[in-house]
Amino acid sequence: MNRETLLLRGGRVLDPWTGTDSVQDVRVEDGRISALGNALKPEGAREIDARGLWVLPGCFDMHIHLRQPGRSDEETVETGLLGAARGGFTDVACMPNTDPALDHPFLLIALLEQAKRSGRARLHPIAAATKGRKGESPADYASLFAAGAVAVSDDGDPVRDAAVARRCLELLRSHDRVLIEHAEDPALSGRGVMHEGLVSLELGRPGIPAASEDLCVERDIVLARLTGARVHIAHISSKGVVAALRRARAEGLALTGETAPHYFWFTDEDTRRPDGIFRVNPPLRSLDHQEALLEGIQDGTITVLATDHAPHSPEEKAQPFGQAPPGFLGLETALAASHAALVVPGHIQPLHWASLWTRGPREALGLAPNRIAEGQPADLTVFDPKVKWRVEAARFASKSRNTPFDGMELTGRPVLTILAGQLTFDATRTEESALP
Ligand SMILES: [Zn+2]
Repeated sequence: MNRETLLLRGGRVLDPWTGTDSVQDVRVEDGRISALGNALKPEGAREIDARGLWVLPGCFDMHIHLRQPGRSDEETVETGLLGAARGGFTDVACMPNTDPALDHPFLLIALLEQAKRSGRARLHPIAAATKGRKGESPADYASLFAAGAVAVSDDGDPVRDAAVARRCLELLRSHDRVLIEHAEDPALSGRGVMHEGLVSLELGRPGIPAASEDLCVERDIVLARLTGARVHIAHISSKGVVAALRRARAEGLALTGETAPHYFWFTDEDTRRPDGIFRVNPPLRSLDHQEALLEGIQDGTITVLATDHAPHSPEEKAQPFGQAPPGFLGLETALAASHAALVVPGHIQPLHWASLWTRGPREALGLAPNRIAEGQPADLTVFDPKVKWRVEAARFASKSRNTPFDGMELTGRPVLTILAGQLTFDATRTEESALP
């Protein structure tokens, strides 16, 4: 990784913080954006022809699973952050459902140490909402936030007891931090393995009703109203959640929500395969849910896209559908898949799409803006919206291969990732030099 002086020539600058959508040169020097404008002089900078490319603030994936500690055969901080850089991300937030769960400051400090050594992306750990993710009592938030936690979550599970969730929210309110809720009612989900609907009935597999997700979110809205705390709903897949979130936000409650690119590409029809490749939680639902997610994005109810990057070993994903662990890789396909599903067909404008990966997550977490402006740290993602490419899981940086996009053609791809002025990914050079 080298910190050179760069001049991005003639790219389309998309800055959701200022609403900027215009062709400009961007000069990067000493880790900062040193100039913006037209016909900037090279002055010794390495010039990159960015004509036809989009220049975004550094993209942020606020929902990934690094499998450290516990399953470093599936992913590590090193491989996860390398995948993030190649996927166009300068920042990622990792979930605490590791083994042990991230409920102690020492665990966060160890992860942040490893992330610093990697240098490929900024890591923002999300701490466990409850001790050991057991759902019994809130973790020690003061020490976790002091150690660098950016939010809390029991992701993988909801905070299932309403009284415990209330206590967590009261504490979070005093820290001005957000609870990220994995919205699910465990009793209603029962032994379900896929979306409950016509396809699950036909296949004879136990279903997870959308009501399971809806019920948890309705409860959280009530608790957000009671406590005044901030709640972010993870991986929304249900139309009921979109409607509930819309109402809650109109009421002025501090709720935000994310959905993931795979929900725009696949439905429960894709889960007919006998193996577990298409198993994910919340499950791929029916078309009416997919349409509601799109409306939720279009009208600003859902302000965040996140991958829920969940590495699993090939052996585990090859098991029969009902036994395979739920989850997909996402880091190295996210920008392309969301661009191809949302921008290419004209559902949303490029600036809106950029916001879902930049401003949306930073606002949900309460982090400072990362504007494209003179003097700002040079955190940039340069994206080629025209290039068509075929997903090859075998070439991923991830230690795992479980992507439902394998073999598919997508339109658009990150070409440069710049973190504090350092190129952490550079596809303009040969493939080899883009590798570590
Ligand atoms: Zn989850």
